[in-house]
Amino acid sequence: MKQVNAEIIAVGTELLLGQIANTNAQWISEQLALHGINVFYHGVVGDNQKRVADSFQLAQTRSDVVIVTGGLGPTDDDLTREAFQLISGLNVVEHGPSMEKIEAYFSRQNTVMTPNNRKQARVFSGSTVIMNEVGMAPGMIVEHDQTIWVFLPGVPREMKSLMREGVLPILSQKLDQHHVIRSYVLRFIGIGESKLEHELKELIDKQDNPTIAPLAQSDGVVIRLTAKALSDKQANLLLDQTKDAILAKVGEFYYGMNEETIQHRIVSLLRSQQCQIASAESLTGGKFIEKLISVPGASQVCKGSIVCYDASVKREVLHVSNEIIDQFGTVSEECAQEMAKNVADLLQASIGISFTGVAGPDPIEGKPVGTVYIGVYRDGEDSIVRKYEFLGDRETIRQRAALKGYELLYSLLKG
Ligand code: ATP
Ligand code: MG
Repeated sequence: MKQVNAEIIAVGTELLLGQIANTNAQWISEQLALHGINVFYHGVVGDNQKRVADSFQLAQTRSDVVIVTGGLGPTDDDLTREAFQLISGLNVVEHGPSMEKIEAYFSRQNTVMTPNNRKQARVFSGSTVIMNEVGMAPGMIVEHDQTIWVFLPGVPREMKSLMREGVLPILSQKLDQHHVIRSYVLRFIGIGESKLEHELKELIDKQDNPTIAPLAQSDGVVIRLTAKALSDKQANLLLDQTKDAILAKVGEFYYGMNEETIQHRIVSLLRSQQCQIASAESLTGGKFIEKLISVPGASQVCKGSIVCYDASVKREVLHVSNEIIDQFGTVSEECAQEMAKNVADLLQASIGISFTGVAGPDPIEGKPVGTVYIGVYRDGEDSIVRKYEFLGDRETIRQRAALKGYELLYSLLKG
């Protein structure tokens, strides 16, 4: 199979000024990787015809596929077409169906179309035009001197729709007719990225097909497996084999695949075990329960939460005893234990979970920033309390605390 090298060029001064992030390049890279196309360069260039043309010239010399986003709109600073004409000498012609669409849009809006809007329907002669279903300027694919050029509007929603509906299928067909690319995302919790990589070092070192790519995310670590094969069946077989090899090493931290989040997994375990959960949240302020409730079906298993940020709420609403608060403080094992049990009792849940700690910036009760106690109570059993010392700013500490809560709950539920 021939190796294809792709390059992505984003046109727009806004990007250079840092007013927006180049999310187009990120998304396109991800999609190309899934289609087995290597991306070797990302470029960003401002709305300047000479500089855009220069960046196109360079791309022409080194890339098999160039995907350009932005600068196809109606205004004077939209000059991608003109810049490409400079290096390719291609003519532009008006694309009838796109022009009709633009005119229809203006007549629907009851506004007069300014002449510069015609520009949006202009396409390179000889190009494959992809109609823009969600905006005006169409996408184009055109071959020039053995390089495949793809031009797309900058608006992310339009770019993605054109990529999905037109560009990716056409590129796969042009480049790699007989192969399919399939991928699995394996999700882990309770193991860091470096430990995971260490455990899987041998597999990662000799990876080939599927490729194995570990990735740290805010809610745990994922591994993306991508396989290339002659059929879906073969690709899935390769993926299953590698998945088994990975789980043989780090299966204890695995919780789900693809779109399944830890919260989905927890909700489904709670449902199958007919448990309900309630949370008492001090520093997390409801963060923990919020993500559980966002899972469809949560109503059967989530009772609710008491956000007990101030000590008086821990005392008066959650009935944590004065003795405990006076003797051990609100950031303590004892307090977390009572919070977990009492919230379960108060909200009639079979499981209670509690969060109390110091999110910062200042210490509380002599406890340093990052100290967090998480308590888990289960019907009739003693609460288990764990103490953590998280690093990071206030938001990070609050997030890590909630994430740890899912981890503890998950390990309790899976037994
Ligand atoms: P339009 O027809 O809407 O003018 P265009 O092809 O001319 O589209 P631009 O004017 O360059 O595209 O960009 C339109 C908007 O799309 C920008 O204001 C910005 O919000 C968004 N955008 C452009 N490029 C990117 C990018 N690389 N990443 C993320 N967003 C982008
Ligand atoms: Mg524009």
